[in-house]
Amino acid sequence: MATSGNLFILSAPSGAGKSSLISALLKQQSERPMQVSVSHTTRSPRPGEENGKHYHFVSVDEFKRQINNNHFYEWAEVFGNYYGTSAVAIDEQLEKGIDVFLDIDWQGAQQVRMKRPDVTTIFISPPSKAELEQRLRSRGQDSEEVIQGRMAQARSECSHYQEFDYIIVNDDFEQALADLTTIVNNQRLKRSQQMQKHQLLFDQLLAND
Ligand code: GDP
Ligand code: ADP
Ligand code: 5GP
Repeated sequence: MATSGNLFILSAPSGAGKSSLISALLKQQSERPMQVSVSHTTRSPRPGEENGKHYHFVSVDEFKRQINNNHFYEWAEVFGNYYGTSAVAIDEQLEKGIDVFLDIDWQGAQQVRMKRPDVTTIFISPPSKAELEQRLRSRGQDSEEVIQGRMAQARSECSHYQEFDYIIVNDDFEQALADLTTIVNNQRLKRSQQMQKHQLLFDQLLAND
């Protein structure tokens, strides 16, 4: 039997470094099967964002149609836009043994946790409020109004930190990446995973010869 993949959720206030950490993890562990789930969203693409790579960019009508067709594992309205995670795509990847990372907000994390209690959830915290604001500005992707909205939203996102299995404070980036790697490896070394992966070994060790 093939080993099934692990499902991880990373949540954080916008600007805390989720996307940077996930993309660095995937680059660092390129030999291991891992993918970031590509969400659907109704927000407009930022410069450099590609449809199907960063997000599936869809209209509000199309999004609502997909909600009605039960296309999503979870969906939420964030900053006035809809975001959702396709159930089929994730299940297919996990069955193939691919670890899947969801970069979703706390509302989505709650919904996925109810459907998939085996999910590992990680909260990424900024080192301070001031640094969070600084990162949102230095990213240079959003207008002042959007930045202020995201700072206001940050408090609500942070208020859910106690619902997560792990917390990483993203102060020094390399340290935060090492912490994330530890969590992922920890999950892979769990008995349930190792039993699937090394089934033949245990059959052999337990055989009467
Ligand atoms: P970012 O925070 O700078 O990465 O900005 P985005 O516009 O990419 O995402 C805005 C928020 O929506 C973030 O808090 C994401 O975690 C959240 N988000 C993205 N995709 C999904 C999704 O599929 N479902 C849910 N529930 N939230 C999502
Ligand atoms: P999120 O996906 O959570 O919104 P990003 O990964 O886009 O956050 O990070 C926001 C900004 O902060 C980016 O410009 C990124 O390069 C920067 N950043 C991320 N982690 C750190 C860190 N540890 N130290 C300094 N800057 C960081
Ligand atoms: P990623 O888009 O993979 O998260 O990040 C690649 C780099 O682009 C990051 O290290 C960061 O400097 C910058 N970046 C961060 N967030 C965004 C984003 O939401 N959109 C784009 N286009 N670039 C980003």
